[in-house]
Amino acid sequence: MVDALLDTLLPPRCLTCGSSGRAVKGVCAQCAARLERIEGPLCDICGAELGTPGTCLACLSNRPPYDVLRGVFRFEGLLVDMVHAFKYGRVTTLKHFLGSALAGAVEQWGIHADIITFVPMHWTKVVDRGYNQSALLAKEVCAHRGVRLADDVLRKTRRTAAQAGLARGGRRKNVAGVFEATGMRDKSVMVVDDVITTASTAYEVARACKEAGASAVAFVGLGRVL
Ligand SMILES: [Zn+2]
Ligand SMILES: [Zn+2]
Repeated sequence: MVDALLDTLLPPRCLTCGSSGRAVKGVCAQCAARLERIEGPLCDICGAELGTPGTCLACLSNRPPYDVLRGVFRFEGLLVDMVHAFKYGRVTTLKHFLGSALAGAVEQWGIHADIITFVPMHWTKVVDRGYNQSALLAKEVCAHRGVRLADDVLRKTRRTAAQAGLARGGRRKNVAGVFEATGMRDKSVMVVDDVITTASTAYEVARACKEAGASAVAFVGLGRVL
C-alpha cells in the first residue's frame, strides 16, 4: 500500500544503475539479469561445483558441521557493488530485492527449518553500523515464509577483525569459538549470511548450533565466492 503510493509520487528508479525503467523491488531487469546464479551440479553438502551430482571428497573425508551450504549468486561483478551499497552504504532498501532472491532460492533448494536466524554481529558493531545486513535478509526470508525470525538464538561473543582482510587460515582462527547458540535443541536451523567466502564463518556457526543440540543446520548466503 505504502509502496504503491510511493511509486505514484516518485517514479521508481533502479537502486543500482539509476535508470527510470521499470524496477521490480527497486532493481531494473537489466541489472537483475547481470547477476549470475550458481547452478549445479553441486556437492550436496558444501555446494562446491562438481562434474556430477553427489558429495565432494572433502566433505566425504571430513564431514563439516553444516548439513547444507548454499549461495544464490556468484560474488562478482554487479553483486559486489550491490552488497557493498547494502552493507556499507546504508542502501537498506535493497533488502527487498536481495531478500526476495534469497527467499526464492531457499524455496528452490527445498530447505525447510524449524528456526530461521542469521549470522550475528558483535553488538558494538551493530551500534556502529546501525543494522545487521544479514538480519535484514533473514527477515525478508521469514516474511516470504510467514514465520517469525529467531533473533535471539545466536550470539557473537567478541568483536573480530573483518574477515574480508584475512587469508583463509587467518579467517578460521579469527572466528574460532566466537559464536554461541541457545534454544535449538532437536530443531532444524537455517542461518542466513550475506556472502560466503571461505565458509569459515559457516563452519563456526554450524558447530555452535550442533553443540547447542540442533538436529540439522542449513547455511545460506546471497553471494558466494567459488
Ligand atoms: Zn538497473
Ligand atoms: Zn562438499
